[in-house]
Amino acid sequence: IKFDQPGLGLKEGNSYSGFDVDVANYVAKELGKTDVQFVQAPSKQREDLIATGQVDLIFATYSITDERKEKVSFAGPYFIAGQDLLVASDSDIGGVDDLDGKRLCSVSGSTSAKNVQEEVPGVQLREFDTYSECLDGLVNGQLDALTTDNTILAGYAAQDQYKGKLKVVGAPFSEERYGVGLKKGDTELCEQVNEALTKMVDDGEWDKAVEKNFGPAGFEVDSETNPPKLDACS
Ligand code: GLU
Repeated sequence: IKFDQPGLGLKEGNSYSGFDVDVANYVAKELGKTDVQFVQAPSKQREDLIATGQVDLIFATYSITDERKEKVSFAGPYFIAGQDLLVASDSDIGGVDDLDGKRLCSVSGSTSAKNVQEEVPGVQLREFDTYSECLDGLVNGQLDALTTDNTILAGYAAQDQYKGKLKVVGAPFSEERYGVGLKKGDTELCEQVNEALTKMVDDGEWDKAVEKNFGPAGFEVDSETNPPKLDACS
């Protein structure tokens, strides 16, 4: 999981919270695992963490992509988000088309950094290991925007210390399909996870987790794409 994304994966002392954490705990329970150990999975380390067996499953705002599928397999998707921008409250940046020449922050190894470089080759992109490292620069004016999934950005914007200072632009420009990362080719595990995800939607726990984790940030989930239909395991 992520450790620094409020509403998704957050570590505070010895407690973990967020939508990814709730989905992870639900799936683990369905798999008969009671002793879950959470490990931090920064974006660019995710494939390696799985390939080297340091973790069994990844629930970390982890978009399913063909490139990643060369190294890992995915169950899911269990959620669909979209890439957006977080800017200062008084910023006039209104979308990806306004980013040419702007100082933008994102995370290495993410689809966010890759997408925006393709869309706006003239952007000045700075890449950190985690999104929360971008926040200070955004507040003090050294950066013009932070880009990643709208889910993650909504969580930061709702934090007490950023209220009134930062806003999510609200013009998503990609589709991020969150999958559960697992060892490449482990179809049996993938199918078990998919069964658990189906049950979580059917018994109402998925809805509850959405409301509990995204409700407080005022993040409105796109109900046309969510909950998503699962991909076949391969
Ligand atoms: N969902 C995107 C990705 O998997 C961005 C968020 C993240 O880096 O975790 O790359």
